[in-house]
Amino acid sequence: MKILVINAGSSSLKYQLIDMDGERVIAKGVCERVGEPVGNFELKIGDEKFTKQVEMKNHTEAFLVMKEALTEGEHAVLHDLSEIAAVGHRIVQGGALFKESTLVTEKVIEGIESLIDLAPLHNKAHIQGIRASLEVFGPDVPEVVVFDNAFHSTMPPEAYLFGVPYEYYEKYAVRRYGFHGTSHRYVSGECARLMGKPLEEIKLITCHLGNGSSITAIKDGKVIDTSMGLTPLDGFIMGTRSGGVDPSVITFLQEKEGWTPAETSEILNKKSGVFGLSGGMSDDRDIQNAAAAGDARADLTRHIQWYQIRKFIGAYIAAMQGVDAIVFTGGIGENSQPLRENICDSFAYLGLTWDRKVNETAIRGKGGELSLPDSKIKVYIIPTNEELMIARDTKAIVEAL
Ligand code: ADP
Repeated sequence: MKILVINAGSSSLKYQLIDMDGERVIAKGVCERVGEPVGNFELKIGDEKFTKQVEMKNHTEAFLVMKEALTEGEHAVLHDLSEIAAVGHRIVQGGALFKESTLVTEKVIEGIESLIDLAPLHNKAHIQGIRASLEVFGPDVPEVVVFDNAFHSTMPPEAYLFGVPYEYYEKYAVRRYGFHGTSHRYVSGECARLMGKPLEEIKLITCHLGNGSSITAIKDGKVIDTSMGLTPLDGFIMGTRSGGVDPSVITFLQEKEGWTPAETSEILNKKSGVFGLSGGMSDDRDIQNAAAAGDARADLTRHIQWYQIRKFIGAYIAAMQGVDAIVFTGGIGENSQPLRENICDSFAYLGLTWDRKVNETAIRGKGGELSLPDSKIKVYIIPTNEELMIARDTKAIVEAL
């Protein structure tokens, strides 16, 4: 069964075609600058990459460009689009409405639409992606939506409610939803498999560390807490996001600087975190290189990041009353040796021991077990695979039809 996985952004469309027999990626790529006079189209087959510039007025045109590349010309990987059995869409915000992946119907689209307030940029773009896909594939190809926060829907109210008047939860559904759920779900399943234990019997802390980062506490297979909140802004410092700050900092600065709500959001989401603290660097590699070369601000920034991550892990160990394994994933989690070293060292007091050689050699896509056999807490580096998770959900739903 061949499944197409789609991640539609406001001006982009990422795609991955997966053959579920062997869970093999046939082709993947991205349509960028959708809606602009000149767009970029990219197709990757194995290690080969093909690009072209082409105008894509909207998502439907982006789908058509992708369809043409997959089915026609020298790089075609399909005879016909009908070989695609189903389409799976990544949706950022499922609110409290969607607790699991589901088949697309008009009612489901309306549900995603009703959550636009909670994720204005993302959900709007996802709906454009679904509508475009329905237009290109027609009604006979099942389409499935997989929500970024569905995995977090098991959180109890004590973890998801904020200390603001309860009426705002009732009136606007203001609460913690969490994000990166598909990634946390994937790596937690992989971790249980590597440990040879049922997920339902272990306590895990999964650290998805990329440009956006979140940490999740998973007890007996259920998320009990996660660091991102109503939006992906909460938690600890990220590439350009502030993470959690004293809320008074925001009102104080709004008064001093005269920020509007939109400007406030722009500064907290795009100009803060690692970028804001370091003075303009958001890429972890730049921070590590600068710190190693003696840049004091870069060094301070990485120490703030490590300290905040350590606090989240510590808090979740307390929340779960223990931890069996910690997982690192995402661009930083899979690559950053100094970060893993710092975090692992900080839990030596709980009996965590780790292998320097594994830490040095683990790079993106490779993974490995970082803890030593005598460690009281297992530590794994697990490359995440959100697309495969979406494809697996899509397959399961389609097969049950
Ligand atoms: P996103 O959150 O946008 O999906 P990724 O998961 O790809 O992003 O993570 C991006 C981050 O991973 C960047 O900060 C980048 O510096 C970091 N990264 C990528 N490769 C390395 C590396 N070799 N060493 C350290 N960090 C890396």
